[in-house]
Amino acid sequence: MNPSTTLALGAASTRAPAVPTETASGDDTTDCAQVKRIALTFDDGPAATYTAELLKDLAPYKARVTFFTVGQNVAAHPELVRAEAKAGHEVGNHSWSHPDLTRLTTAQVQQQLERTSAAIKAATSKAPTTLSPVLWDVDTEDWKYRDAAKVARTVIDKASRNDVVLMHDIHATSVAAVPEILKTLTARGYPFVTVSHLRATL
Ligand code: ZN
Repeated sequence: MNPSTTLALGAASTRAPAVPTETASGDDTTDCAQVKRIALTFDDGPAATYTAELLKDLAPYKARVTFFTVGQNVAAHPELVRAEAKAGHEVGNHSWSHPDLTRLTTAQVQQQLERTSAAIKAATSKAPTTLSPVLWDVDTEDWKYRDAAKVARTVIDKASRNDVVLMHDIHATSVAAVPEILKTLTARGYPFVTVSHLRATL
């Protein structure tokens, strides 16, 4: 008997049906590999008025996003960071003053991160576990053109299953793009999750 034939037959006979035939048991038949999500991330905030507006836009969609906050902005607006965390969003560390980290000493980088972690912890009672830069799939480059329609179009055209999207909540145009993004991608069946959630369930 050819062993490879046996293996192939074995695999074929145990393959699960593509569509669940039995749902009456109450078992969760969700195939996690089939679930698609998008992780929107917002760097450099919080920013007065824009971040609060963004939180209002996200709420009706139950969208969860990740904010990579800058420490000095967290210290200036702890109430916005608290609101982010309270709404179920992820608050990440994006340095204290947004310097070019490659030009700093290790000790200076550490200070940038530690100071920010402390400010986030003071605002939310929880130290951040996520650090930017993360690896993005879609960099909107929203800071370059400051055009809400173009930001929306870029995300809607480029974002697909399990992508991380980079935007900035310090620009009015980026925040203004969010309702259209949420509406269109929700209609295409995408839930919005945090970066940590996406990574944990990939
Ligand atoms: Zn940044």
